[in-house]
Amino acid sequence: MEAIARSVPVGVVGAGTMGAGIAQVAAAAGHEVRVYDAADGAAAAAVEAIYQRLARAVDKGRLLAEEAEDAATRLHAVAALEDLAGCGLVIEAVVEDLEVKRALFAGLEAVCGPDAVLATNTSSLSVDAIAGELAQAGRVAGLHFFNPAPVLPLVEVVSGAHTDAAVADLLVATAAAWGKTPVRAASTPGFIVNRVARPFYGEAFRLLESGRVDAATVDALLCESGGFRMGAFELADLIGHDVNLAVSRSVWEAFGRDPRFTPSVLQERLVADGRLGRKSGGGIYAADAPRPEPATADPTEANLGHWLGSGDGDGPLTRAGAAGRPSGTVHWRIDSDEVSLRPTDGRTAAQHTGGGPRTVVLVDLALDYASATRVGIAAPEHAPKEHVEAAVGFLQGLGYVVTVLPDLPGLVVARTVATLAATAADAVDSGVATADDVDTAMRLGTSYPRGPYEWGAALGWNWVTGVLDALAAAEDAGRYRVSRQLRERAETDDGWREDDEVADRDDLARRASEAMWAADTASRALGMTIEQVSPGTAVVSMRVRPDMVNGHGVCHGGLVFALADSAFAVAGNTHNRRTVAQGADITFVAPAREGDRLLAVAHEKFRGGRSGICDVTVYRDDDRAGRATIALFRGRSREIPGTLVPDEEET
Ligand code: NAD
Repeated sequence: MEAIARSVPVGVVGAGTMGAGIAQVAAAAGHEVRVYDAADGAAAAAVEAIYQRLARAVDKGRLLAEEAEDAATRLHAVAALEDLAGCGLVIEAVVEDLEVKRALFAGLEAVCGPDAVLATNTSSLSVDAIAGELAQAGRVAGLHFFNPAPVLPLVEVVSGAHTDAAVADLLVATAAAWGKTPVRAASTPGFIVNRVARPFYGEAFRLLESGRVDAATVDALLCESGGFRMGAFELADLIGHDVNLAVSRSVWEAFGRDPRFTPSVLQERLVADGRLGRKSGGGIYAADAPRPEPATADPTEANLGHWLGSGDGDGPLTRAGAAGRPSGTVHWRIDSDEVSLRPTDGRTAAQHTGGGPRTVVLVDLALDYASATRVGIAAPEHAPKEHVEAAVGFLQGLGYVVTVLPDLPGLVVARTVATLAATAADAVDSGVATADDVDTAMRLGTSYPRGPYEWGAALGWNWVTGVLDALAAAEDAGRYRVSRQLRERAETDDGWREDDEVADRDDLARRASEAMWAADTASRALGMTIEQVSPGTAVVSMRVRPDMVNGHGVCHGGLVFALADSAFAVAGNTHNRRTVAQGADITFVAPAREGDRLLAVAHEKFRGGRSGICDVTVYRDDDRAGRATIALFRGRSREIPGTLVPDEEET
């Protein structure tokens, strides 16, 4: 398809930030451009501002004086919408208000010839909603430029349900002729970039809200390990938290308040307090003070003798018995006698370590371990101090700056990349755009170091779903749920596989809990089901039946206790050591009612000698509204002699 001919005039309606930028692009590409704005003098002021920008481009040697003059002579401020008659393409960039845009398009339909293409630069409104009532809705499409339009190359060409294919093709060709990189998107909330980018901010805010990691550390890991050009907080401070939150809220609302997109409470508070970012003197960071230092381990000489690497492809180099830097993949491990260093797969270091012979220290994801300057690591909370120091010393010896993180599921970079990849896959699966266009849009629209779809495929979709599953079990089943298509993609993916030792321990945990469950008739009689187990973790569900409620329709507290206690028992026995309860406390937070599906999520907090501590949170599980906490339970356990299933290590 050919682009719109240069001889055809282009109209721009709305002469604010975007309209002025788009007018400049169209004039520079050789079109006569007519700029109209409803506010008196706004179009003339925008044209004047473009002249000045063109003059600055000449001063900086980026444009020839004749080119700037030609572009300037092609720009006209016009006083009425009727002056756009004769334009072959009109691009609307007025306020983001559906009723204003609808009225404007009705006006444009009356003024412009039947062949004129009408485009909207909306960031968040539906093209169908804007065009729906027009006689010729087929000629309306989205042409979504990014700010600043003269500089940023990406343009999303957005097709609504009524948009003619030829109109979308024409806009793709025209954007390309104007020096832009067009991608095609269906008119769905957030199109590509504003939808797929949500987890970049969402995960960073969740980490900050956890109170266990500070903003500067999150940003440092995203940049120095993940290869992102800017950290999530630095970028949100630059964009403005009001703007960033408005996009998050609009995508969340448009998806029926899907918990995947739930906006951050902390960001809501920043906006309410007027801490909007750089433009208001500060947001997450103060605008006029030096950036706080990220958490960084002190240099240490500690090392535990020989470290041996293994992995496939160009995994950890093994030179004369000494392991070097791992490669960019997640298929490697480096072991000393007491410590095993592994890339995170979403589960905690405590879960990996389980009852195994070595302390597992997890390494956060890096874009490329060979060139990363910083790595984040996490060890089980009660790991011997000398094991953590040895891991730090070894990694410092490889030239990394090391951040020791708390033992969080998915750490920082891995959870960010896994959720971005899943959101990208979801956009592809729901027909928003092709995988290539999603990746192009994210690299150009957000400067990501790698397209998130291609990144997910390279890491392995089963690695991506593994991280999401671990986050779902530990934090929020609704937010991190894996779509059916993504699960299928992971099942046919032979990219990443668990290493044998981890797979064996998972298998043992599953078999031990099944053996225990088979003998637990009481839990089964209450309709409880084991949803998930891994070493030290269990998720058990129960539906509140009519015979479980009291006279007020509220579930008996004793039955909520029984559910938490069962999850505690399953988690405690996952190491295949017979483990019994020594005591437990419960705090009830909210009532559960008939029909509610309850989930008890148990995590072992401590295991040492023969005793253990396990925390259980009972949630009311509602896939859409997220989870509400019903009760908090802490159990103390003790191992007694014997195993639940024959233990191969012992036979
Ligand atoms: P802006 O507030 O800078 O400019 C809007 C202009 O539209 C104003 O000059 C206003 O006088 C004019 N206007 C309002 N109603 C009008 C009408 N009925 N007829 C003619 N002119 C009218 O806004 P902006 O930031 O340039 O955003 C414009 C559009 O572009 C919005 O739809 C926005 O979502 C979208 N967008 C903005 C950005 C961004 O970063 N600012 C990026 C991409 C897309």
